[in-house]
Amino acid sequence: MKTSPSSRRGRASREADLLIQLAEGLALSGSRAEDRFWEHRLDQEIDALLEQGDEGSLNAALDRLADRESRAYEELADAIEGRVEHSTVASSDGPRDLLLFAAPVLAWSRMPLPTRSVTDSVLAGLKAALAEHVFSEHADLALANYFFSPDQLPSSFGETADLRLSLAQNLPKGHLAINAQSLGETAQFLADQRYILGVASVPQGQSLFRWQEGILSRDEVLAAWRKAAQESLTHLLPACGFEPMLPRAYYVACRDADRAARPFSVSASVAFLTTTLGITPAMLSAVVAGCYNRQLEEYRISFLVSNDEEVIHGVVWPLLGAEDEMSDVLEEIETTLKEAGVQRVEFLRQRMPMEYCEDCGAPLYPTLDGELVHAELPEESEPAGQHLH
Ligand SMILES: [Zn+2]
Repeated sequence: MKTSPSSRRGRASREADLLIQLAEGLALSGSRAEDRFWEHRLDQEIDALLEQGDEGSLNAALDRLADRESRAYEELADAIEGRVEHSTVASSDGPRDLLLFAAPVLAWSRMPLPTRSVTDSVLAGLKAALAEHVFSEHADLALANYFFSPDQLPSSFGETADLRLSLAQNLPKGHLAINAQSLGETAQFLADQRYILGVASVPQGQSLFRWQEGILSRDEVLAAWRKAAQESLTHLLPACGFEPMLPRAYYVACRDADRAARPFSVSASVAFLTTTLGITPAMLSAVVAGCYNRQLEEYRISFLVSNDEEVIHGVVWPLLGAEDEMSDVLEEIETTLKEAGVQRVEFLRQRMPMEYCEDCGAPLYPTLDGELVHAELPEESEPAGQHLH
């Protein structure tokens, strides 16, 4: 039977109503026993919507709870992300927990940062490093054979759950072949995140990660992973500075990477400008301005050579999660710039629009006078075509 758009809307809204009601029940619950009741009902409802590909109801419920600034929003977001990245499946030796994980890498280069298919030997090296240093001895792993940019990560809950499913089906092989043609284009920045994605499977209730075994801390696991992954990542990121982050469950790993990428981009920019121009960090100044759509979306940071008015480079510092004008973001930006050696930091008071270059799409950056302009390196120092070494 064909349904009209308006009757579909009515249905989506009823399903969103139920999600909201369950998430609010969970937010108001006063005991673990009651929590489990609401969580179980919520899980069933979310699974059904994911199965039907009903992304609209999930997003509608999240949007409505976000507007109410209710704790139920966090409960619902956690529940959806939890069902998307994790599942329990039956196997011949009993039920197993499957977790989609991400191993983020922060990287920067004067050349375009690569996104690429990963060769069998590099993938085997990464898998061995993860198996030995990050995941517990009970874990089976399957990795996607692609080094993803943020633009290429699955964009919806449904696509993310599908990736978890495809990886899980390829656990016996140990890897999933990704069709590079199916992935989106990547916006180029001096510094950015890259991701190794995979699925880990353990007997239900067993530890997934090394740090759950009570012997190594997360910091020790991270240090071991950095060392073990160094060689494989050098193949993926030639002539790049990079910093591997702790592999974790998919959503939290992506959030860690988004947060860490902000100060990383600032220090990478200072390293890039000082080496390219042959100057010290103290000779750079920075201008910081808040850019708004309906609300504050991001800060844009311009770099200038002291006493010069030209904006030579810029970095976007996006707001994340619940951050707004009242958060300590400006202090964090100032501390990051000062720690990188930039001594003069100017903050503009006026609200700036989110403007981009009409030709190349690059964000425009603030001058000291409060204009938004295209950042341009002095011509003789343009790095195009040069190699780092
Ligand atoms: Zn442009």
